[in-house]
Amino acid sequence: AKGSGRNTWRRFTPAMAKGAARTATLTSALKDALANDALQLVYQPIVDLNSERIVAAEALLRWEHMGEAISPQEFIPLAESAGLIGAVGEWVRQKALKLIGALCAAKTPIKLSVNVSSFELLSASQQQSFCGGLLAEDAAALPWLILEITESLLLETNPSLNETLAALRCRGIWIAIDDFGTGYSSLAYLIHFPLDCVKLDKSFMATVGLPGKGEALTEAIIKMSAAMELCVVAEGVEHEGQVAFLRRHQVSKAQGFLLHRPMTEDALRALLSAQG
Ligand code: C2E
Ligand code: CA
Ligand code: CA
Ligand code: CA
Repeated sequence: AKGSGRNTWRRFTPAMAKGAARTATLTSALKDALANDALQLVYQPIVDLNSERIVAAEALLRWEHMGEAISPQEFIPLAESAGLIGAVGEWVRQKALKLIGALCAAKTPIKLSVNVSSFELLSASQQQSFCGGLLAEDAAALPWLILEITESLLLETNPSLNETLAALRCRGIWIAIDDFGTGYSSLAYLIHFPLDCVKLDKSFMATVGLPGKGEALTEAIIKMSAAMELCVVAEGVEHEGQVAFLRRHQVSKAQGFLLHRPMTEDALRALLSAQG
């Protein structure tokens, strides 16, 4: 037997039964959490390295279930397979737009970035209701909103997506590609989409200062984004060496634990008031 071939068929083990039970329990609890407004959003600032000001923040979902913090890496896929992701996404965007309104009223507006699952935009009819939902919102708030989508979405054969993204951009919404550089899309292909921004995946920041070809690849990805006239946000900035690297390569927007951890809405508002 060769390599993984032996693992193609597996017996149903107690561990698998436990996994399935957890999936079922969490999925039903997630439904309740959504209905009871028991999810939370935290916000991670995005800093302009030139002005050293917070210019944006990414909204990140948090869920505590029976005292356990469940990672979005676990519950987002559950929401996707249970058909709940549309409602989850809708909830996130409502909260984000409400905060945008409050920040504008406080005269401390910044851009707010939300993650959009590719499951929310697969079909033309999903895209229509997605657009309809957003375009019914306060028009003044929309230019502060950034939608983060992944390359995998652009890769699905999806003739209407181009128009959908264009319609959103007409209202001032920015479109960012999340985890940029980790997918398989060709440059020629990406150029066809109306985009504003790329979020350079944190695996690229992890190459900085290490031996090997990783750092050169990171530089190439940054150059490519600049050639496409996209704004670049570097994710996963954890040490000063990475900040120096970004400055050297004219990347001015950075997000990461070195700068700020994800924080509550109140903490974000306090920071923004303090920076004036
Ligand atoms: P992502 O969109 O790539 O979000 C960035 C993740 O990196 C966040 O993890 C953030 O806390 C983490 N991070 C930030 N700075 C650093 C750093 O300096 N070092 C390291 N190692 N990590 C850092 P989080 O909050 O656990 O989210 C994980 C993923 O879950 C997100 O990855 C995103 O794909 C998904 N997610 C989170 N919130 C939502 C949401 O509202 N909707 C959807 N569809 N997905 C979401
Ligand atoms: Ca993201
Ligand atoms: Ca990302
Ligand atoms: Ca990610």
